[in-house]
Amino acid sequence: MGLIIKNASYIVTCTDSILDGVIENGYIIIKDGLIKSIGTGVIPDCLCDKNIEIIDAKGKTVTPGLVDCHTHLVHGGSRENELPMKLSGVPYIKILESGGGILSTVRATRELSKEQLKDKARKSLDQMLIHGTTTVEAKSGYGLDFDSEIKCLEAAKELNIEHPVDIVSTYMGAHAIPPEFKGNNKGYADFMIKDVMPYIKENGLAEFADIFCEDGVFSVAESEYIMKKSKELGFKLKIHADEIVPLGGGELAAKMGAISAEHLLAVSEQGINDMADANVTAVLLPGTSFYLMTGKFAPARKMIENGVRVAISTDYNPGTCPTENLQTIMTFACFGMKMTPLEIIKGMTINAAYAIGRENEIGSIEIGKKADLVIFDSPNVNYIVYHFGINHVDKVVKGGKIVANNGILK
Ligand SMILES: [Zn+2]
Repeated sequence: MGLIIKNASYIVTCTDSILDGVIENGYIIIKDGLIKSIGTGVIPDCLCDKNIEIIDAKGKTVTPGLVDCHTHLVHGGSRENELPMKLSGVPYIKILESGGGILSTVRATRELSKEQLKDKARKSLDQMLIHGTTTVEAKSGYGLDFDSEIKCLEAAKELNIEHPVDIVSTYMGAHAIPPEFKGNNKGYADFMIKDVMPYIKENGLAEFADIFCEDGVFSVAESEYIMKKSKELGFKLKIHADEIVPLGGGELAAKMGAISAEHLLAVSEQGINDMADANVTAVLLPGTSFYLMTGKFAPARKMIENGVRVAISTDYNPGTCPTENLQTIMTFACFGMKMTPLEIIKGMTINAAYAIGRENEIGSIEIGKKADLVIFDSPNVNYIVYHFGINHVDKVVKGGKIVANNGILK
């Protein structure tokens, strides 16, 4: 069985080769889960086959399946109780120091069983899928102790098999210092390196290792130490860098050969240049900027002008960006960081695929790539970003099959 999408008003291929990556009045032919042919106008007879399902996408816009390349998918609880504190201006780091923030989610996550965590995460994956996300990166880091981190990573591994959305896992034990190691960052680092990470590697539970490099969490020196050891153990590197203070996280990402650096609201000019030179993808999270209420967004335009590849993600997490919907994030990226709708779509497809090392399989509409596609009930790309707060997705195609139709999962 195959699938044809025809008469699409716009196909945003997210490749550099075809006219800015946009085809008008286009078609896509899919066979065996892969993209077989792309073109404009009438489909040549020789390419049609009687067993093929046809979707008429007249008046609609087709993009690659969205890739949410930075999420904290598996966790327990929620943190709406912090809203009054946020409204009265208590900074995030202060909420964390008083046992709130990440640490309250750690308590909630430790209490849940793997099945309970999966039930909660499955609901999020359903939401992501009906809003157009076909691949998601999922970080651990709300368990922190051995059993809880493994429980979360196993939950993600099982969901990857059970759910249509593909999940790429990251170990982020270095998300906060757990209460058991308060004041002993070195002890906690060595516990991760010696006790947790070898087990994760052996059991194929995560491909990447991530770290929260920030004032009051892990210093640049501590981050460098943990990144070096993670690399030696065979993990690819990611880093939460320069979110609140310009510590030098962008520079460190480049120095350590990280695949991506995330947040970067306070990145220095040197950090931007180093990231461009070392081909580090910047993962920007404008939903989190909005949620932190500081009015500060990452300097996306400056990064783009300096040759940094910019990806955009939800940062889906219970404290600083509780949304699974990348379409809402598109609007924040546009209005908060002055990115164009086409830059944003690329940031959520091919550039996001680079941020998780999947650029050869997904992220663009090219012959031979996986047929992960979104058909938006939208006459053009600008409209998706402009008309915000609703779900524009008409259909989601995953591996050549329709998995969501008009907001309903198949
Ligand atoms: Zn994060």
